[in-house]
Amino acid sequence: MHKHILTTPDGVSYPILTGSGLLKTAGAETAKLKKPCRVMIVSDTNVAPLYLEQAAESFSEAGFQVFSHIVNAGEESKSVAVFGELLEAFCEAHMTRADLAAALGGGVVGDLTGFAAGCYLRGIPFVQLPTTLLAAVDASVGGKTAVNLEHGKNLAGLFHQPLAVICDTDTLQTLSPHEIQDGSAEAIKHGILDDPALFAIYETGNPSEHYEEIIARSVIYKSKIVTEDPTEKGVRKLLNLGHTAAHAIERLSNFEISHGHAVAIGTAIVTRAAVKRGILSAGNGARILRTLTRSGLPTVCPFAAEPMAEIAALDKKAAASEITVILPETVGKCRMERMPVNALGALFADGLEGQA
Ligand code: NAD
Repeated sequence: MHKHILTTPDGVSYPILTGSGLLKTAGAETAKLKKPCRVMIVSDTNVAPLYLEQAAESFSEAGFQVFSHIVNAGEESKSVAVFGELLEAFCEAHMTRADLAAALGGGVVGDLTGFAAGCYLRGIPFVQLPTTLLAAVDASVGGKTAVNLEHGKNLAGLFHQPLAVICDTDTLQTLSPHEIQDGSAEAIKHGILDDPALFAIYETGNPSEHYEEIIARSVIYKSKIVTEDPTEKGVRKLLNLGHTAAHAIERLSNFEISHGHAVAIGTAIVTRAAVKRGILSAGNGARILRTLTRSGLPTVCPFAAEPMAEIAALDKKAAASEITVILPETVGKCRMERMPVNALGALFADGLEGQA
């Protein structure tokens, strides 16, 4: 088992545990941090049949009074309506501020549960029990929670750090290749940003044999960034590598292209643009593109530069007339570059040149 402690500048501190068989001990691990109380385990229609019983047993054996709430699998559950239903479920279970929520699932369940836990009674504690690679390497760590609005993704949310993150790597065995690829895109991103050894697992190794290490390395990097900049005023923006184009690609595809796949295409775009602009060597650019492809991820963008730039300009992260774009300098180091929003079209055009 790998254990890492994340501490925010406000002194909020929580353990992130990763390893095989941890669902069985999740209740006991949580009981070390919080006196047994009511716990509402939130899960989805794919994950609940596989893992809810095991999770419920684990909490129950540790002395918690277990309730459960199951939402439909899929991004549609990150809605205001489903959020409202979850709050009502907390009420029906007579949950108080002394009680606990637990998110058993991927990023959808994690974001929804975290947001509801952050709002209910002005905030109750919650634990993250991530069951997708994407949630394990990214979404469950850092305290960002949200639901989607009609106008766009993640537009209603808050920062609410979990009491603990407990990832049982055995649960990743039931993921489809597509979902593994989604998580791989974010893990490779962490490698490009900061960790050549993590990148190497994807470049030349066999990632499916190294999930504990992949998650542990991602968690250590993300924790470092969150500790420095919990509310994304500075260095946390680095985590948006590939994301400016990715959000536009997701939108233009009507969300047919999943987030991780869009991040891979977005990463390929900034990689090509960085090579063209002399920021990244052609050799390292080729390594990044090859590694994404080796992981089953797309690198070719089906959309033109201008429509993507228009959508990116409307993105909530485009503060005023400037935007911060993340460009790779080498494998393991990236730079933040402020540019006028109207320079995005040219950047994307550079990144689309020479697509194979
Ligand atoms: P998801 O939660 O929809 O899970 C993907 C699919 O896998 C779903 O169908 C789910 O039911 C299924 N599933 C989950 N675990 C499984 C398992 N062990 N076995 C079999 N099937 C399983 O999606 P995701 O990719 O985990 O997360 C995407 C969401 O995360 C998006 O909404 C995104 O906005 C959010 N996100 C949040 C952050 C953050 O910092 N909060 C960061 C990145 C992404």
